[in-house]
Amino acid sequence: ELAGRAAIVTGSTSGIGLGIARVLASRGAAIVLNGFGPVDAIMKEVNAISAEFGVGVRYDDADMSKPDDIARMIAAAEDHFGAVDILVNNAGIQYVAPIDEFPPEKWDQVIAINLSGAFHAMRAAARGMKSRGSGRIVNIASAHGLVGSPFKSAYTAAKHGLIGLTKVAALELAEQGITVNAVCPGYVWTPLVEKQIDDQARSHGIPREQVVRDVLLKKQPNKRFSTVEEIGGVVAFLCSKDAASITGTSISVDGGWTAE
Ligand code: NAD
Repeated sequence: ELAGRAAIVTGSTSGIGLGIARVLASRGAAIVLNGFGPVDAIMKEVNAISAEFGVGVRYDDADMSKPDDIARMIAAAEDHFGAVDILVNNAGIQYVAPIDEFPPEKWDQVIAINLSGAFHAMRAAARGMKSRGSGRIVNIASAHGLVGSPFKSAYTAAKHGLIGLTKVAALELAEQGITVNAVCPGYVWTPLVEKQIDDQARSHGIPREQVVRDVLLKKQPNKRFSTVEEIGGVVAFLCSKDAASITGTSISVDGGWTAE
């Protein structure tokens, strides 16, 4: 159903972004993978997605904290595929520390990648979408776009900001056939979560197993991590024709976390 469309998924060399890219490719979209990692592993993924789903796949190493890189990536994708029909702003990092010990450079980095990167990408991609009178933008926020948790000041601020940005862009682009929505995952099993377990253990002063049980899944009423395929499925739905009237909103995929 997405055949003939081209999608950029930022931060898609790993975790949720890779899951989203694979689901969009499975529906027929051509894909720009983006993110960091060993180039040979990334090229293997490019070839695997292309072979498995028969779609065009490119890799772009744009650093989402660098506005010039982002503008270049959007222009290159438009050049290569003729358009960017779908933009998924997924690249994100986490940093966990008490606010009075939070390193200012980490604050800047989290805001740059998780919030400003999405702005620069939307800014660059919206022009082409407007000229074609169609487009889909999906911002991967978080349950932390709706509620807070201790030690996640920068992340929570960035994700709340991303939801605000989603609303404004949706309002501006609504008459041009472009929808802009946010997806708010709870805990999804990815390298980002795995890495956090150690940081959380240090901040709370408790062992790893206890972090998983009492800190992470404590918030998630269904007591399981979501899968990257589940997040990809929601993104694909938002990109479909059925979702044409859904804009400016956020969809929680959090096992009930934010219902409490
Ligand atoms: P991950 O660490 O597995 O993947 C992050 C991706 O972003 C990687 O491909 C990485 O290379 C890329 N990336 C990092 N910095 C970048 C930069 N400067 N420029 C370009 N790419 C960069 O993380 P994940 O868990 O898959 O998270 C993806 C998104 O989902 C993030 O925005 C995160 O905040 C959000 N999220 C994750 C969870 C979760 O439980 N994992 C929950 C809610 C929201």
